[in-house]
Amino acid sequence: MRVLILGGTTEASACAHRLSGDGRFAVTLSLAGRTASPVAVPGVALRVGGFGVAAGLARWLAEAGTAAVIDATHPFAAEISANAAAATGELGIPLCTVLRPPWRAGPGDRWRTVPSMAAAADDLGDEGRRVFLGVGRQGVGAFRRAPQHTYVVRTIELPDAAALPPDTTLVQARGPFALADEIALLTSHRIEVVVTKNAGGDATYAKIEAARRLGLPVVMVERPRKAGRHVVAAAEEAVGWLERLHAMSRSDRGV
Ligand code: NAP
Repeated sequence: MRVLILGGTTEASACAHRLSGDGRFAVTLSLAGRTASPVAVPGVALRVGGFGVAAGLARWLAEAGTAAVIDATHPFAAEISANAAAATGELGIPLCTVLRPPWRAGPGDRWRTVPSMAAAADDLGDEGRRVFLGVGRQGVGAFRRAPQHTYVVRTIELPDAAALPPDTTLVQARGPFALADEIALLTSHRIEVVVTKNAGGDATYAKIEAARRLGLPVVMVERPRKAGRHVVAAAEEAVGWLERLHAMSRSDRGV
C-alpha cells in the first residue's frame, strides 16, 4: 500500500520510523524544505519541496498510486492541510490528520490568548518591554510593527535579518528544551514577557513552565483552523488507522 506522510514534525518522523521496514507499506515522507539538512528515515523515501497547491498534490498522489495519506504537519501549517484535504477528497483517498492537543493554561499561568502574530505584537503595548519570541522563523516578521521592544528571538534556522525588529538578539537552537535551561535563558536576558504559538507537545513546553515559575505573562497565539476528516492526536493512532485500512483493503480483495 503506497502511503504519503506529510511531515516536518516529530509525529511525522515517528510515523515514518514506525512504518519503515513494514513490508505492507511503501512510504514516502514529504517535507516542505524549510530546514537546511532534513533527516532521512531508513527505508522511507524522502521528497522535499512544495507540490504546487492542491492541484499539484492531487497530480502527485495519482501518479504515485497513493492509497492513503497521513497529514502529520504542524498545527500551524494550515495551507498544506487544506491542500491535503482537497486533493484526497477529489481523488477519494483516505486521509488521517495528526493534530497534537493544544496546551491549556493551568493554575499560576498568566496567559493572554490572541488570534494572530500581528495581534500578539499589538498586545505587547506601547511601552518598551523585554520580550522572548518563541514563534518560529516565519513568525518574527510580524513584530517589526512593534519596534519599541527589545527582543530575544529563538529559532532553529536563522531568520532573514531584514525580517527582524531592530533591537533583536538571536538564539539559534533546536528543542527539546529543559526547564532549567529555559529559566536560565529567560532570567539572563531579563525577559518580561514570553510570546509563543500554541504548538502543543512536550518538546517546547518548558518555556511555558519556566514563565509560570518566574511569574511572567505569556502571549499565546491561537492555532489556525486545520482541515481534516479523520483527526487523531498522536502518531501511534495514525499508524493504527493505516493498519486497519490495510486490513480492510485486503479483505475487500478477498485476500
Ligand atoms: P503551510 O503554510 O501550511 O504550507 C505552505 C506551503 O508549503 C504549502 O502550500 C506547500 O506548498 C508547502 N508545504 C508545507 N508542508 C509541506 C510538506 N510537508 N511537504 C511538501 N510541501 C509542504 O506550512 P508552513 O507553516 O510554512 O510549514 C512548513 C512545514 O514546516 C510543514 O511541513 C510543517 O509541518 C513544518 N513546521 C511548521 C511549523 C509552523 O509553525 N508553521 C513549525 C514546525 C514545523 P505547495 O502549495 O507548493 O504544495
